[in-house]
Amino acid sequence: MDTLKQILATYPNNMTLPAGAILRSKSFDVIVTVYKKSGKVMFQGKNELIEATRWDMTIQDSHHLNTTSSNKKAIVANRLPNNLSQMSIIGSDEVGTGAYFGPLTVASAYVETQNIQWLTQMGVMDSKKLTDHQIMTLVPKIIEKIPYHVVNILPKKYNELNKNYNANAIKALGHNFALIKLLDKIKPIQPELILIDQFTRPQTYWRYLRQQKLIINENVHFIVRGEQAHIAVATASLIARYIELKTLHDLSLEVNIKLPIGAGSNVDQVAARLLQQNIDLTNYAKLHFANTKKAEKLDNHY
Ligand code: MN
Repeated sequence: MDTLKQILATYPNNMTLPAGAILRSKSFDVIVTVYKKSGKVMFQGKNELIEATRWDMTIQDSHHLNTTSSNKKAIVANRLPNNLSQMSIIGSDEVGTGAYFGPLTVASAYVETQNIQWLTQMGVMDSKKLTDHQIMTLVPKIIEKIPYHVVNILPKKYNELNKNYNANAIKALGHNFALIKLLDKIKPIQPELILIDQFTRPQTYWRYLRQQKLIINENVHFIVRGEQAHIAVATASLIARYIELKTLHDLSLEVNIKLPIGAGSNVDQVAARLLQQNIDLTNYAKLHFANTKKAEKLDNHY
């Protein structure tokens, strides 16, 4: 069932309707208002955030999330627009979170409606099926034309950040920073919306950013498998993968061993070899992975 229909079925219509509204309900310590034309849903009250994030909707107006919960401003939740796939938007995605060696790479890309067809013809939509080699030839053509920004967090920096932030918090910081930079690059153009491939609950994402001076939160939406929702996310994903591959290649040259992708047992073997050569893994790997301990064990056995 449509999210809006579910909301209408859940909350009793027990208050006087304001103009343009089809539901106004007071229950669970929140007042929920649904507006007919825009499909916007407003949540006000003590448990506004908890209530709003129950639904498969994206938080449109989250400025207040940077302040204390005593702030009584309402949350406005939005469904993703029906014509999303054809809109001019920024997509944002990250790679490297499942890879022991190499960076965490976040990329944001701005794809205008007029470039959607071109990117589709280039094969971007099937990004998951592209080989590393195809990515290396395709992405340079894409970034000639498509505005983007990459935040490439090298292992040394990642491990440093990881002392204070967990992996998801680091991702959130990366996305926010990439968005700041990209919005600046495309000025005065503004995207119709910003779509982040969802890696954590929206409310958690905003919590991770609470301490940041500048938070990009206007028109920011999260969606799982975002690369299917809009080609901008697939484009961002490809660009991130390209930078990750290049970085992994450079790091491999430094140690003169091919650093494999992923986090399997072959990764442990290579990490153990690096340890044997007294190479500091801090500069090459995400130390919090279980691979570190496994590699140390292997190293002691040799
Ligand atoms: Mn993703």
